Amino acid sequence: MEEPKPTLAQLKEQPHYSYSALNTYINTCQLLYYYRYIEKAEAERTPVALPFGTAFHSVLSEQAQAAKTGNLLTAEQMTEAFTTYFEANCKDAGNIVFKRDESIEDQLATAKRMFEVVNKEWIDYWNIQSVAEPFRIEMPGLSKPIIGELDMVVSEHTPFDDGADSGFDTIVDFKTAARMRSDDRPAKDLQATVFCYAFEKVHGRRPSFRFDVVTKAKSPGVRHLYTGRDDDHYRRLEKLLVTADKGIQAGVFMPNESSFACSDCPFAGHCSNWHCSSTQSDMKIAA
Ligand code: SF4
Repeated sequence: MEEPKPTLAQLKEQPHYSYSALNTYINTCQLLYYYRYIEKAEAERTPVALPFGTAFHSVLSEQAQAAKTGNLLTAEQMTEAFTTYFEANCKDAGNIVFKRDESIEDQLATAKRMFEVVNKEWIDYWNIQSVAEPFRIEMPGLSKPIIGELDMVVSEHTPFDDGADSGFDTIVDFKTAARMRSDDRPAKDLQATVFCYAFEKVHGRRPSFRFDVVTKAKSPGVRHLYTGRDDDHYRRLEKLLVTADKGIQAGVFMPNESSFACSDCPFAGHCSNWHCSSTQSDMKIAA
């Protein structure tokens, strides 16, 4: 009998890099990476968007599981499940901060409107190959494996099918966003590159990638944004991640004070004393 595949939680027990950790180091802020993934400092505050996004994601995963068997949750069922996840996530995170004029009730009303649109515009049923598929891959030159979870994999024809190697596999990633992403963002997105690379390593087939973006607006919308990756993207990715890994191993953790993340940073207090309380050589380095 085939051994059961390890779950994401089991994969997390061993040393690893995740896409979000690597993205934090490369694209957001190296010092934020240090506080979150190496020092594992307690968050001073948690913007409400975080438990909201995690809860929304959990519900879409349930929706995908149901759709795989030809069913769909109703918008009411999704909102009910969201409320449970959201309240639990807020309780776990503690010290949740809201933007001005926002409240828990507003968040629940926004989620309800979003699920009504998601329910109306859902497009995948029997073509769903997998939901919440964990992966673990090695990359040449990287000190730790990369782990992650593909939200959903579907079979479909896309403009990025490349003939012989193509199995018409599309990795789908669920996203919530304050406003709709620009059309060119998926082409440069690190997550799409990492996940396509991982899928190809695991399955030996070249996938396309689709972001399913739901906007958190008064009138929410859903868009499917497609992209694809080739060998040149993969070569660049390997060089990028190995360079980042070297920086992490060497203890290079610089603040990025023009980062979009500064306004909601959970470690802003730590950061404000960074230059007073420690030198680079005092900082713990990843095992
Ligand atoms: S406040 Fe800005 S610079 Fe400081 S750790 Fe956070 S994101 Fe980085």
